[in-house]
Amino acid sequence: MATYGLLIDYEYCTGCQVCEVTCKEEHDYPVGKWGIRVFDDGPWEIEPRRFNFNKIPVPTDLCDLCTERTAVGREPMCVHHCLANVMTYGTVEELAKKLDGKTKQVLWVPQFKPYEAKGPFAHDPSKGLRKAQHLQVSENVSAERMAAQRGDKRVEEIH
Ligand code: SF4
Ligand code: SF4
Repeated sequence: MATYGLLIDYEYCTGCQVCEVTCKEEHDYPVGKWGIRVFDDGPWEIEPRRFNFNKIPVPTDLCDLCTERTAVGREPMCVHHCLANVMTYGTVEELAKKLDGKTKQVLWVPQFKPYEAKGPFAHDPSKGLRKAQHLQVSENVSAERMAAQRGDKRVEEIH
């Protein structure tokens, strides 16, 4: 099963935040919750008259890669509406090829609601003070939805 992701060319991201808005509209996320957020890296001065200033869109744990749309062959909402056309949806294999030869790109492989997918983290004394493990599995997310989004073998493990 292929794993899917989002490739974002942040060199040409304008920071318009349309991806944030369309994602919220599509999923009906309330104020204070997002499927993707656009962060600022800068501006700060590298040297006189030369600045670092990047806009970096980051899918959150509420990004399900628009499972309902992509399952029927449609693009994710953010990809469809990105005004600068800097977002691409596809398999990690396809997207990784596009990374080659173009700088200032980032390939995201979001994981929808890891809490529901794997259950809560809890301390495991046998693994040391800083180690934790997932203790239970929630049925909140359907196997089909997770399988379509995650595309890895852990889907079978958690259901
Ligand atoms: S792929 Fe869908 S869920 Fe993920 S950030 Fe884009 S619009 Fe939101
Ligand atoms: S919609 Fe496209 S150009 Fe606008 S902030 Fe999102 S990724 Fe950047």
